[in-house]
Amino acid sequence: MRITEIEVGYLAYPVPRPMWNGRGWRPATRPMLLVRVHTDEGVTGVAEAALTVATPGVLAALVRDEIGGLVRGMDPLAVEAVWQRVLDAAGSASRAGLAIVALSAVDVALWDIRGKVAGLPVATLLGGSRARAPAYASAGFYQEGQDADELAAEMRSYVEQGFRYLKMKIGWLPLRDDLERITAVLAAIGADVPLAIDANGMLAPKDALRLARELEGANILWLEEPVATDDVDGSALVAAGTTIPIAGYETEHSLRGFRELVVRRAVDIVQPDVALTGGFTGCRKVAALAEAWNLPCAPHAFTSALTLVGNLHFVASIPNGYLLELDRTPNALRDELLLEELALDADGCVAVPDGPGLGVTLNPDTVSRYRVAW
Ligand SMILES: [Mg+2]
Repeated sequence: MRITEIEVGYLAYPVPRPMWNGRGWRPATRPMLLVRVHTDEGVTGVAEAALTVATPGVLAALVRDEIGGLVRGMDPLAVEAVWQRVLDAAGSASRAGLAIVALSAVDVALWDIRGKVAGLPVATLLGGSRARAPAYASAGFYQEGQDADELAAEMRSYVEQGFRYLKMKIGWLPLRDDLERITAVLAAIGADVPLAIDANGMLAPKDALRLARELEGANILWLEEPVATDDVDGSALVAAGTTIPIAGYETEHSLRGFRELVVRRAVDIVQPDVALTGGFTGCRKVAALAEAWNLPCAPHAFTSALTLVGNLHFVASIPNGYLLELDRTPNALRDELLLEELALDADGCVAVPDGPGLGVTLNPDTVSRYRVAW
């Protein structure tokens, strides 16, 4: 079997109400690049290229033209050979940043092909640790005109929907105001529901420590990306100074970057993402690194349904898989992109699709409704 072509399409879902995180990321649309890797035997793999590090045109050209040109004619089942070809061509800086994000999409599509050829779900091919994964509701953004009470009611609604773990955003407001929001949410969700707080890298280490120590008596699941991604010493300082686990860093994309975070004890919970950290091939190496340090892996997943289902296969396949991130902010490219439903069950878990590969089918109506360019 040979790779013949990589096809890329650009979709975007308009955000209905302005929302932003601690970093001030305020998307007008929730975009995705839909990637299809075609083969000479008619098997096609699908994936998403994550638009977190480049504009659609740049990332599309990188995936379709640059990587597509390098891997045409290669065996789609030989994922490590594909990696090597791309990394050799991209040069010494290629194991991080834009190159690895582009390669992530191709890798996920190749694993979809591997599963389809084998007649097995990707999670089974990777190790099949469990058939479902517990999920947390990822939401609680800053929103125009939303006060702490409205935020608390929003977070409470996820508990009512069956979520047993929640996550909200911090880092945009002064510490005292963020603390007020957190306190309101904790009171609304009850002491039995652990709450993660995500600063998106916006706190100074001392401020992160002060905040963490204020919250040590509460049921805090983790403090996510407290400081800038490349401030490994700062993150280690925070981790050493509080009993609250430090989670991160979705903004680190390389295996060796994760090595620094893990070995220097800058994180207690490791957060790669199949759309950012080199697909399944990259993420399972990060998971093994974490396992060697007795750390759980809770993948980041905050784009379309394809990235969500990819991270579901990943977290269900590894022995140290922890929670699945289930974004609850409005996005039809998550909720309506697939014909299959990725729903929360009565135990607060999401089942891994049992079809071959990623086990999903794109909804052609949704693809055409949100299509921007092809
Ligand atoms: Mg995050």
